[in-house]
Amino acid sequence: MDRIFTKHVNSSISFLGSKCGMADSFNLSFLRKFIFLNISVLLLSGCQPENKLVLSDQPSVASNMESKNQGAKALPEAATEKQKSVKRSPIKTYNDTSTKSEKYMVAAANPLAAKAGIAMLQMGGSAVDAAIATQLALNVVEPQSSGIGGGAFLMHYQSSSRLIEAYDGREKAPAAATSDMFLKPDGSLPNFYDVVPGGLSVGVPGALRMFELAHKKHGKLPWSKLFGPAIRLAEEGFNISQRLHYLIKIDRFLKKFKTSREFFYTRDGYAKPVGTRLVNKPLANTFRKISKGGSVAFYTGPIAAAIINTIQAVKTNPGRMKLNDLTAYRAIKRNPVCSFYRKWLVCGMPPPTSGGITTLQILGLLQGTNLSKLTPGSSAAIHLITEASRLAFADRSKYLADEDFVEVPKSKLIDPGYLAKRAKLISVKKSMGRAKPGIIKRKSVKNLGSYESYEGESTSHISIVDSDGNAVSMTSSIENAFGSRLMVGGFLLNNQLTDFSFLPTSEGKPVANRVEPNKRPRSSMSPMLVVDNSAKLVMVIGSPGGSRIIGYVAKTIIATLDWKKGIQAAINMPHFVNRNGVTELEKGTALVSNKASLEKLGHKIIFRKLTSGLHGIIIGRDGTLSGGADPRREGVAIGD
Ligand code: GLU
Repeated sequence: MDRIFTKHVNSSISFLGSKCGMADSFNLSFLRKFIFLNISVLLLSGCQPENKLVLSDQPSVASNMESKNQGAKALPEAATEKQKSVKRSPIKTYNDTSTKSEKYMVAAANPLAAKAGIAMLQMGGSAVDAAIATQLALNVVEPQSSGIGGGAFLMHYQSSSRLIEAYDGREKAPAAATSDMFLKPDGSLPNFYDVVPGGLSVGVPGALRMFELAHKKHGKLPWSKLFGPAIRLAEEGFNISQRLHYLIKIDRFLKKFKTSREFFYTRDGYAKPVGTRLVNKPLANTFRKISKGGSVAFYTGPIAAAIINTIQAVKTNPGRMKLNDLTAYRAIKRNPVCSFYRKWLVCGMPPPTSGGITTLQILGLLQGTNLSKLTPGSSAAIHLITEASRLAFADRSKYLADEDFVEVPKSKLIDPGYLAKRAKLISVKKSMGRAKPGIIKRKSVKNLGSYESYEGESTSHISIVDSDGNAVSMTSSIENAFGSRLMVGGFLLNNQLTDFSFLPTSEGKPVANRVEPNKRPRSSMSPMLVVDNSAKLVMVIGSPGGSRIIGYVAKTIIATLDWKKGIQAAINMPHFVNRNGVTELEKGTALVSNKASLEKLGHKIIFRKLTSGLHGIIIGRDGTLSGGADPRREGVAIGD
């Protein structure tokens, strides 16, 4: 048996909004009927704007939930030396080492930030309240990774309606952006780090507008309350962690900019040592203004003016963003993309991130393989998963970009029939090597050129379940560690525009992810939610890690669903990643023993640090919450 796919049921299911003529409730009985089929679901836009996720008894695809509201090699954020164990507060520990809790839980990249989220939940706040408070606190204590100077994607699960929503707060290119803006004057490619520091790489920040949009719908606490813990942390300071110190120390650009230099380094130019109390009064002031005035206090007025001035006046790569770009920014509620993986419905963000679709493609390509029969971490399992990943990444490089600008054949890409056909390219005996994108004959997409842009590895993921069973899976980012390195109002500005393809064309064909005015750069962020056959929440998961995020998240989903690992064990499991090239195995792990057998199958193997920051929560049948935090960073899962 050379081929892994023997059967594939090509069924589809409908998610229809009320304007499409469907009832506005969640029809669970239909979902149950399809429990054992391989079903793909695409939540397409176009059905207006009832906020209900509806499974309709229709034979074929369809759509939706709420439509849109409008309708060179770089240095990653490196792993730190083995993190000191973090005190986990009030939790019972069971032998699967996951954090257990009865009521609510926050899993995030820093204990102080997770506590900020817990404080909201203790006051009766919702998952969205807690997510915003956690994120604002992360802006203070993990400034290199995310914050209000950047963007985010948020997936929301509402327990009462079993509705899943997707919020897009991704940065945008300014109106004055051009498709050749990152190229050298002679049209050649710059080194990645020639264009990261400074103003040119800064995208219009989207996080705050997105928080506000989600808070309007799901917030229980007043907006201003969410800022309390972060303002206190910024004002009173926190001790610089091992990881933050290390990242400041190895950074080559941060000290070139006065404000950043004075904040992160001693007068002698050394990275402030571990344990230094870092107070951030400008950020406390910024937060205070936004807590009173709402996001408009950020997108207009003195904060906005300071952002624009910093971006335009900087000598290194001055940027093109104008005040209008800030005022015009809107977060967008999009339609999640979902597919059945075995008996679970896995949901992720649609474009502009590639994360949702590419993760679903990997899972869909493995649908016909009985992974549960394979030993976790065995070469046979790694081979199949990484081969599926090659195929998915080949499609990603050709088809995925901001769908407000280019047509993304979403339904085709996660269609079970399409994936079954693609999966026939996977052989158990030999690696396919570099995979080619699938052929999609649609006129609007068939002539695209493939191109891979480099993505850094900074970013942060937050998973939260509140006491009503609502959940947030949110990944937020300023892209590279310390983003553009420009600091204003106590926060760092992102360099997210370097997630665009620097080349507008490849082999004479336009690249989908080329820079265009007002476009959102393609992301890999993959905040995911998994529900069971009665649409009850099963898992909340996501990670930072640049385009490797997709591999980290897919592996963790497989480890929990197929291999029945607890969330902490699944997160800890050594990583193996293939982005349609070499197979990367996590350095310093048991995977060293897989090298020879994988090479025999034709893989080119490299060992490297794979610094994920997976934070996840599994909801047991009895409602018990199990949380996991990635030991590769400084995160923690805590709950009551
Ligand atoms: N900029 C990347 C993205 O949006 C994320 C970078 C990271 O994970 O560090 O996909």
